[in-house]
Amino acid sequence: MMNARKARNTAHDAMVQERQSEDATWSCCGWVCSSAPEMYKHIAISHGDILQQRTLQFQERSAQQPKLDESALEFMTRRAHKYASDPINLDCSCDPSKGTVILFYVYLPISHPLDLAKLHKLWSEELNFYGKVKVATEGINATLAGSSESIAMYIDRLTSHPEFQSLELFQPLPSASETDQISLEERRFKFFKPTEGCRHVFDEVISIKVVEEICPLGAPELNVYNDPENKRGKLTPKEFHQKLKELEGNDDVVILDVRNYYESSIGRFPGAITPPIRKFSSFKDYVTRNKSQFAGKTILSYCTGGIRCEKATSYLRQSLGSDEDVQPSQVLMLEGGIHNYLEWIKHEGMAKDSLWLGKNYVFDARQSLGLEGPTTTSDTEQVVDKLISSCQACGRPCARYVKCDGFGCHKLVIACPSCSSAVSSSKSGLFCCVDCHEMGEGVHEYVISGQTSKPGTIRVKRGICKCEQERRKELGVEKINCT
Ligand SMILES: [Zn+2]
Ligand SMILES: [Zn+2]
Ligand SMILES: [Zn+2]
Ligand SMILES: [Zn+2]
Ligand SMILES: [Zn+2]
Repeated sequence: MMNARKARNTAHDAMVQERQSEDATWSCCGWVCSSAPEMYKHIAISHGDILQQRTLQFQERSAQQPKLDESALEFMTRRAHKYASDPINLDCSCDPSKGTVILFYVYLPISHPLDLAKLHKLWSEELNFYGKVKVATEGINATLAGSSESIAMYIDRLTSHPEFQSLELFQPLPSASETDQISLEERRFKFFKPTEGCRHVFDEVISIKVVEEICPLGAPELNVYNDPENKRGKLTPKEFHQKLKELEGNDDVVILDVRNYYESSIGRFPGAITPPIRKFSSFKDYVTRNKSQFAGKTILSYCTGGIRCEKATSYLRQSLGSDEDVQPSQVLMLEGGIHNYLEWIKHEGMAKDSLWLGKNYVFDARQSLGLEGPTTTSDTEQVVDKLISSCQACGRPCARYVKCDGFGCHKLVIACPSCSSAVSSSKSGLFCCVDCHEMGEGVHEYVISGQTSKPGTIRVKRGICKCEQERRKELGVEKINCT
């Protein structure tokens, strides 16, 4: 069993990490500080009870886990890849129709996550596919790309794996008694959500990790598969579509986009609340600060493929209660997410009636998908996908992201190809805001040795630019000094 001191340190580290944002500041209880030791102190003083609780959890968990062997280390990670949302350029000449990208998740109890991770490593080498896989005791979340044949073989292997035998969705139905039984193939299609794309969409990198949560909300104790309302709270695209249509003028319902702000900036359902969050783990804080806007309402939530909504709805059911006059049964989600909605509306031949506006952001080099397919910046895209965003430089309708050129900045900027190439030939750069540009100029002065990072590593501390300050203000996180 992990000794108490080590468990406490691990818990303390985890809590500090959960409060860290991408630019090395830490926020908690409505304030932001710029050094990790201050946050360690704050947690010890203000959240001693939670720290104690988490310490015990770590001790219990380590007692249950068998000793780690060397081969397990490569699947362990202290935190998620920091800038997982950075767009990469897709400049290969593959025929995308010969490849398949799948995106799937399932919350179910997995008894041996490490074994499943190792198996994925083996399969990826044999079948030559790439992407990201997260395995936890609460389920699996993966997006993979390869040739259509290799992805088909992967699906066969996964669906016949013992850990997934409890999933009825992989099993042929005993008898076709119901009239509208969906075939096994169709159910698999819905589950794996295949789209066209070659293996280069992940830059030929495979990342396989054993994690605590397959989609990190910072609430590993929420057992989605044990939430009695989980199944009932799922609306098919058709039901969701109808609800949205009936909605006009109805104040009893709110539409909630649970994704990050840069996702909802280029696509959303009309009238949706779009939290200014930059990562899913900020969603909890967002809900806490904005409980009143959900009071007495039915909540219709949606995300890319459903994984975030499953956690978010469980969390909402748990945190909104009689005070807010929200019953667990009033918290609903779009099953299979925006992806499923767009597939359904295309399949029904109803693209013209689609209520979705703009593009569905995806975390690979294709950047976003819509009725028109991946981001193209063409005129047809503008019409078919009803773009809601525009190039920051020229104002032309556009949903294409590039990274801000500000030194040390990781925000995304919407820019059309011609503006991007214009700035790269003039070496001027595209910035999230004017302020960011100016801060970058002097940033070298702020290069200091990180206080808590490993010796020899240097952490750049730059300030927070205006547009990021605005976002935080909107989120309710204002910078005040730690004491
Ligand atoms: Zn706090
Ligand atoms: Zn390619
Ligand atoms: Zn432009
Ligand atoms: Zn910037
Ligand atoms: Zn900015």
